Amino acid sequence: MDLVMVHGGAGGENHPVQSEALEKAAMAGYSALSGGHLDAVERAVIAMEDDPLFNAGYGSVLNLAGEVEMDAAIFDGSTVRCGGVVAIREVRNPVRVARLVMDETPHALLAGEGAIRFAREQGCASFNPVTEKQKINWEKAILAHQRGEQPDICALTGESGSCDTVGSLAVKNGLVAAASSTGGVLLKLPGRVGDTGVFGAGIYASPQGAVVCTGLGEIFIQRNIAAWTVNLMNQGVNVHDAARAAIHRLTGSGATGGVLVADAQGNAVAIYNTALFPVAMVVNGELISSFTPVKI
Ligand code: ASP
Repeated sequence: MDLVMVHGGAGGENHPVQSEALEKAAMAGYSALSGGHLDAVERAVIAMEDDPLFNAGYGSVLNLAGEVEMDAAIFDGSTVRCGGVVAIREVRNPVRVARLVMDETPHALLAGEGAIRFAREQGCASFNPVTEKQKINWEKAILAHQRGEQPDICALTGESGSCDTVGSLAVKNGLVAAASSTGGVLLKLPGRVGDTGVFGAGIYASPQGAVVCTGLGEIFIQRNIAAWTVNLMNQGVNVHDAARAAIHRLTGSGATGGVLVADAQGNAVAIYNTALFPVAMVVNGELISSFTPVKI
């Protein structure tokens, strides 16, 4: 079974426009599946990075210094090869750079200035990912921060609200891939890296299956959520039980989030413990409108 699934971040209210954007991204990913499972997840994530509705690429949240620093990664389960960029600035599509790291370098992960220099060498033009909306959110958040409050983008924006990190999984002819991208968390310290670009934490895959996660990155890093979940699948645990176990592992740490999990046979599930977890899935070319994430 061939499929592409996407998520738009676990968190607050699901904006209807975001559902449409997710469906478009899943379709875009599926249309790239002819090029392979990696092309599909890269294309799906690019569609969401290009859409300012999401906290990834254009539309990313700003850090404490008022800048956008982004993390992104891609993982090929069939070969267990991966590429990522963390704390990268001034590129349009961090996931594209992550793919180039995987394909064009002997490395798995590039950070900061080195990642930017590599992106330019590979022909990725300088791009300002800051939107007016995120500037306004930052201005509100920095005021709250100065008052000693813990700013919450969901409460501040009062709209789509979710943390809006994006991720995608694809399965083609038994080969699985994962990709993810984020601007991270609002008012993060410059240089802070979340789980999205950290292999094993927010993204992982093996020939048996793939996982992408969303939620507060520090917990996913501490609990090694993605690799731990893939390891369950490697031991024969089905996607449903593996995903549930991942969320229970989070809940056990008092944390919230969501996971997309798929195996090489095309069994796929989305499970979360936040208010909402917007997702979309295309199977064999058809948008599955009945596909809904399971809240536990
Ligand atoms: N995992 C992301 C981070 O901590 C945020 C998110 O998924 O909402 O950078």
